[in-house]
Amino acid sequence: MKLKNKVAIVTGASKGIGAAIAKHFAAEGAKVVVNYASSKEGAEKVVKTITDNGGTAIAVQADVANEADVNRLFEETKHAFGTLDILVNNAGIYQWEPIEQVTATAFHKQFNINVWGSILTIQGALKLFGEKGGNIINVSSGAARTPMATGSVYSASKAALDAITVALSKELGGKNVRVNSLLPGTVETEGTHTSGVIGSDFEKKLVANTPLGRMGQPEDIAKAAVFLASDEAAWVTGEKLAVSGGIYGF
Ligand code: NAP
Repeated sequence: MKLKNKVAIVTGASKGIGAAIAKHFAAEGAKVVVNYASSKEGAEKVVKTITDNGGTAIAVQADVANEADVNRLFEETKHAFGTLDILVNNAGIYQWEPIEQVTATAFHKQFNINVWGSILTIQGALKLFGEKGGNIINVSSGAARTPMATGSVYSASKAALDAITVALSKELGGKNVRVNSLLPGTVETEGTHTSGVIGSDFEKKLVANTPLGRMGQPEDIAKAAVFLASDEAAWVTGEKLAVSGGIYGF
């Protein structure tokens, strides 16, 4: 049990990568706060899977881009578990559009959730980490390292998140807080199904360019998140770890 008795918040854990991280953390002994924005049913299903397997989890609704919601997320975490050890900033959205079609609404939505939302949750986490310190994992994207056509805003938002990771690893190291980014390659999730990536020619091209020759699965990312959250990564901070079957490796 690599995370025995640790308390973790995983944002955007009602489905996809976040749900897999929540389940893997719980299987390693963590008590998990399964955050979601609107998918109550999805979050409750994740909690049920965890508790059915002997783990501990609660679901808490909160839009990470809304300060009052984020305050409530941390109040409910404190009420349920008393402390916090690990924050995974996984909640995020992606939109693809040619530069001519980028709107202020689309820009602000992606930056509000992917960047401002992560800043708000980090501020909340620091108060609950207290003197013992803690561990922050920002779920970025290979698209931050290798931006693609029509992904300028999304890539910029994840590159901003990576910059926050590095800055905070320096700012918070003295408080015993580690901060790392995980950069998934394309992963088969509800989000990539809905956005039409899965089953498209684009997916075929991605697989053809992936050295390990397949799409990523949420479990691939969750295993790397367990590593970063655990003491096995005690000397790792300020890193940007690509978990992409090699497509986004250097
Ligand atoms: P997904 O299947 O679309 O799930 C997104 C999750 O984020 C859901 O639980 C959703 O909650 C939650 N969420 C969205 N907006 C939120 C908000 N404002 N506040 C709180 N939660 C919110 O996404 P995914 O594909 O698993 O991606 C997860 C993360 O990995 C994202 O940050 C994404 O950018 C990153 N990533 C994904 C891929 C990929 O190929 N899938 C690749 C690289 C990076 P509700 O269901 O309640 O709305």
